[in-house]
Amino acid sequence: MTVASVSLDLDNLWAYLKTHGDPAWERRPSFLRVATPRLLEVFGEHGLTTTVFVVGADAVRDDGAQAVADITAAGHEVANHSFGHEPWLHRYSRVELEAEVARTEDAIVAAGAPRPVGFRGPGYSVTPDLLDVLAARGYRYDASTLPTWIGPLARFYHNRSAPSTEESDELFGGFGKVRAPNRPYRWHNGVVELPVTTMPLLRVPIHGSYLLQLHQVSPSLARGYFRAALRLCRSTGVGPSLLLHPTDVLGATEAPGMEFFPGMAVPAVRKVELLGWVLGVLRRHFEVVGTGAHVAALGAELPVRDVGRLERSG
Ligand SMILES: [Zn+2]
Repeated sequence: MTVASVSLDLDNLWAYLKTHGDPAWERRPSFLRVATPRLLEVFGEHGLTTTVFVVGADAVRDDGAQAVADITAAGHEVANHSFGHEPWLHRYSRVELEAEVARTEDAIVAAGAPRPVGFRGPGYSVTPDLLDVLAARGYRYDASTLPTWIGPLARFYHNRSAPSTEESDELFGGFGKVRAPNRPYRWHNGVVELPVTTMPLLRVPIHGSYLLQLHQVSPSLARGYFRAALRLCRSTGVGPSLLLHPTDVLGATEAPGMEFFPGMAVPAVRKVELLGWVLGVLRRHFEVVGTGAHVAALGAELPVRDVGRLERSG
């Protein structure tokens, strides 16, 4: 059976508000105490071991440290999702990047998890400097890329709804991203890249929030879409890496201020139901593990991609 993976970006309420340009983020509102146990329960019901990408600024707080401890105790891998969750991470200097990665590692270890070997940036982008930092710090993989043409659309909506963010024009990647591979590969410095899988050929996202958007239109549309995506993955030999977020199990009242976010009108109980169905279908066709185990199962014969090409492809 082909190996597939499930990972969760433990983005907190404040991080969504920050990206949206809502000043309420500065009070750092959190929904981790509700979201984490609910997600762990769904994973537990399916006997799944996943990878959870944790934000450093949360791991240094009580509720975030508790989340890291609970996630680790349940047998999941904890990985690094940057410290400040700034989607414009690719503008950071090498020194700033190093600090982002190192501070998060320290917070994760202090909360009781092993030192992370996987990284995912908050804006679906990687830079040569970031890949250097990861290699130097002993990371085995990066999982930041989302090979889709949806990026520019997401940026368009973001710019309309959050004019206060000057950095928006570089958010969510450029059109060049669609040329990025949908399959894992190895960077020249040895770090493995495990892209967030998009629908083979069509290159549209298949992750949780996208399915919820469809679910809002029609539940059977969302299911049909996901089934079609998995069929394409199987026929093209892609072991999908499925990305989830806390919003995939939270209702509108549990994420105050996020009414703007796609899928928030779907009640929590319906969301949990859809997620359970998604994980069940995935497990029927693939051996499902976390991203670290997915990378380990890929073996040594991955295509190599030149870090220098990044700057040209945008
Ligand atoms: Zn994130």
